[in-house]
Amino acid sequence: MSRKQQTLKSSVRFEGIGLHTGEKSTIEVHPASEDTGLVFLTRYQGKERAIPYTVDYITDTRNNITVSDGVVSYKTVEHMMGALYGLGIDNAILEFTGPEMPIMDGSAAPFVEAFLKAGVVAQHSEKKVLRLMESLWVTKDDKFLVGVPFYALKINYTISFPNSPIGTQTFQLNMTEEDAFSSIAQARTFGFLEDIDYYQKNGLVLGGGFDNVHVYSRKENRSINGARYDDEPVRHKVLDLLGALALLPYDIEGFLVSYKGGHTLDVDFARLLSHYAEKQKEEAKIFTEGYSYQVSGLLHLEPRVAHLAS
Ligand SMILES: [Zn+2]
Repeated sequence: MSRKQQTLKSSVRFEGIGLHTGEKSTIEVHPASEDTGLVFLTRYQGKERAIPYTVDYITDTRNNITVSDGVVSYKTVEHMMGALYGLGIDNAILEFTGPEMPIMDGSAAPFVEAFLKAGVVAQHSEKKVLRLMESLWVTKDDKFLVGVPFYALKINYTISFPNSPIGTQTFQLNMTEEDAFSSIAQARTFGFLEDIDYYQKNGLVLGGGFDNVHVYSRKENRSINGARYDDEPVRHKVLDLLGALALLPYDIEGFLVSYKGGHTLDVDFARLLSHYAEKQKEEAKIFTEGYSYQVSGLLHLEPRVAHLAS
């Protein structure tokens, strides 16, 4: 099912501190013409630098998704990018200052509210659709993210934190359902009280607090600052995955199943989808034989067929 590309009706500005750096940042999201995609923009030493939000510009996926052109970087972009993907906002210029996206309340909700208030408008060109015609997957240890053919985007996500109040949670999102995205937009990033010292000693979560992280205690076996949903953590992981899918200039049609995934698998899956979409454009007819493919020496991938439909 294809649709028209969309952008914002007017610019939206956010400011706040970054989750990991604790440093201040501003970001203005501006309307952009069709086929622009999502492009970060900043000034460095008096010059403008543009960083397209595509798989080629992702330099870190360990605790967040970082975009960089090799000179300037911007961390923890995934929640805003998930909001843009979830709302179908395809074209925007994201003009930033500072090292890291404002974490706001730890969810996508503040972004979503502001974007909807500004308005989302349809443009003339169609949004391209990447339809999975066979299964594609990425794996790492006991974790995997597999995409199988389906007529729309559906995500089934499972997380497992044994011996903790989170436990095992599964959430399924069918993007064709009305208000599907609103079921995950409010889900906050999460962590354990007992891990904070370790993270902060390693220079992480320096801006984290009860107003922007859903904090659990393993020792007390409970949520400290109250859950918005019983399964808020897994809903948040689905939001993170949408933030990685926004790296592609396509609407994805497929049933994605993630088990114990995270930013690295999410972005590696986006890389895989991107690679096969490009190959298909080049060759028109590809992937008639299944074969193995290695990315970054890290993953063993056995993709079969991806099909670019419009
Ligand atoms: Zn997140």
